[in-house]
Amino acid sequence: MSVADQIKSINQELEGTSAKLIAVSKTKPNELIIEAYEIGHRAFGENKVQELVDKADVLPKDIEWHMIGHLQRNKVKYIAPFVHLIHGVDTIKLLKEINKEGKKNDRVISCLLQVHIAEESTKFGFSEDEIEDFLESHLLDEFEHVKIIGLMGMATNTSDQAQVRREFAGLKAFFETLKSKYTHAHLNLNEISMGMSGDYKLAQEEGSTMVRIGSTIFGARNYSNN
Ligand SMILES: *Cc1c(COP(=O)(O)O)cnc(C)c1O
Repeated sequence: MSVADQIKSINQELEGTSAKLIAVSKTKPNELIIEAYEIGHRAFGENKVQELVDKADVLPKDIEWHMIGHLQRNKVKYIAPFVHLIHGVDTIKLLKEINKEGKKNDRVISCLLQVHIAEESTKFGFSEDEIEDFLESHLLDEFEHVKIIGLMGMATNTSDQAQVRREFAGLKAFFETLKSKYTHAHLNLNEISMGMSGDYKLAQEEGSTMVRIGSTIFGARNYSNN
């Protein structure tokens, strides 16, 4: 299937659910992004700052760019002027840097806090306790140029569907807990970014609002560690 047909077919599957599609275009050429753009798709995800900036530079300005990968503090400045949403905020120091760059650019930058939900120790993210400690600490008061609009999580890479479902359900439950416990001017919890090509159906069933899908749309990438 072509990129356009894959996007149409996924959008059909997601219709009537809470989930919206983020097309993950990392490593893929601009022509394929344009193909998606031409059928009206606007939300694209990238995981490397340099690639994101290079693409944003030459592609249409009404594309919503989602930074979905691990973000280093010294690179925040390159995406701060235009990024639509940063999915993988995994330290307070990073949030502080995003706030600083948001201020310089006179913007409020939307962020998701990444929660470590997988069994693998390699995946980034806060623990649930760390997030609650942070929200109780009033540190958020300082972050006037950041808005935390939800949570992001990556499930364990396993064929055990029950485990993946449990991890997504756990993230959703934690999201609901936070929503009921905390209110703050810099907090507006509406989004749960969970689900990729291999597990987005489970994620959508468990309440995802953003599925990040790459290889199903654009084909396999030719490296193995991303
Ligand atoms: C690459 C990537 C995706 C998309 O992965 P696919 O399996 O190709 O759909 C989703 N989320 C993150 C954080 C990624 O880095």
